Amino acid sequence: MPGKLGKTAWHTPTLSAASHELDPYLPGSGNLGYRVSRYDLDLEYRVNSNRLNGTVVVTASSYQPLDRFSLDLASGMRVERVMINGRRVRYRHRTGKLTITPNTPIPAGGAMMVEVRYGGNPRPVRTAWGTVGWEELENGALCANQPNGAHSWFPCDDHPEAKAPFRIEVTTDAPYYVLANGRLISQRRRAGQTTWVYEQVEPMATYLAAVQIGQYERRTMVDGPVPVHALFPPKLAPRLEGSFGRQPQMVQAFTEMFGPYPFPAYTSLITEDDLEIPLESQGFSTFGANHCDGTRDHERLVAHELAHQWFGNSVTVARWRDIWLHEGFACYAEWLWSQHSGGKSADEWARHYYAKLAASPVRVPLADPGARDMFEDWVYKRGAMTLHALRLRIGDGDFFALIRRWTEKYAYRCVTTEDFIALASTFTTAPLGDIWRDWLFTPALPPFPTMR
Ligand SMILES: [Zn+2]
Repeated sequence: MPGKLGKTAWHTPTLSAASHELDPYLPGSGNLGYRVSRYDLDLEYRVNSNRLNGTVVVTASSYQPLDRFSLDLASGMRVERVMINGRRVRYRHRTGKLTITPNTPIPAGGAMMVEVRYGGNPRPVRTAWGTVGWEELENGALCANQPNGAHSWFPCDDHPEAKAPFRIEVTTDAPYYVLANGRLISQRRRAGQTTWVYEQVEPMATYLAAVQIGQYERRTMVDGPVPVHALFPPKLAPRLEGSFGRQPQMVQAFTEMFGPYPFPAYTSLITEDDLEIPLESQGFSTFGANHCDGTRDHERLVAHELAHQWFGNSVTVARWRDIWLHEGFACYAEWLWSQHSGGKSADEWARHYYAKLAASPVRVPLADPGARDMFEDWVYKRGAMTLHALRLRIGDGDFFALIRRWTEKYAYRCVTTEDFIALASTFTTAPLGDIWRDWLFTPALPPFPTMR
């Protein structure tokens, strides 16, 4: 088991100093000493000027006495006031950390409502993987936070292990549609502005929180059992069905394979702009106009993003080094969908990508690929190959039973690779040690798996 932090250390952080790392993959993100139980975001956004003003209430409880603690918030945002439990407190905001000093230390187990009023022109933050976070579009805005861009637009504990329910209220100019996570519970129009209120009941990682704003038309593609909606620029209407029309069947197929869809509904949002890659948020995915060309050419991406609702959004990694638990599964879902919809079989895709992996210069262990390589296609494809090797070893019946139990047992929770290994061992009497050793922990690519 590589890496420095064991699971126990991970789930019970006990240090409050911001200098202690929560995750060696993102040493600057996340904070210790407290546990967030809820976020309430009240945001006002002007599309023309890209001006965001917000009041965010972070409800949290402390693990230990805290004489100070921190939240992540990009330095470009200006903090106007911080209150704890209704009283103003001192704070310092620099290099992406908002360090807050309570008037009297918070006792261990103390409850805090931390209210931050702030504003500015949000822009994405620079990371080793490019810029992430709030982005202006030609005519609107979107959030592409993965892995640590949420703090570009709201103060938070910006690490996936800190999942919490959210309420997101956004007021913006009336012609714009606002999509955020969860159920739309109210929409009020007043003086040329509309206020949209979304309630995200199931706990959500900050990187999956998103506000997407644009001039979109809404269409319900299927009303149930899992309602599937689309939001798109009206001019793309003629192409929508060709590119996204099979999502209801996808939801049904994935429900049979992976277990119940974990959220109340699913929405695909297509922006007016082209996007290099689509991205998942909790309860919806965002695609570029280029992904909606009226053909099935990008259908694998449509399947991939949908699969993230189970793998990533409901069942979320507790540390980024386990990202194969998101991307390997979503990639394997592409292959499963291909086979289900009459295309190449999962085994044919496995052979296709095995050849590519064999030719790739990347050689790092899948279960700890290193921060630099965590979003490499190599992780995605080798992750899917690992699941294929496991499936060939234990057979379809046990394999899919394991996957369904995985999404059930860990629904809305955080997981590690060790959790998956432990659960898999309860589904088979077949020895699996060599699979984990060869596919997860050894940098070299093992031979193509065979059925036992
Ligand atoms: Zn993905």
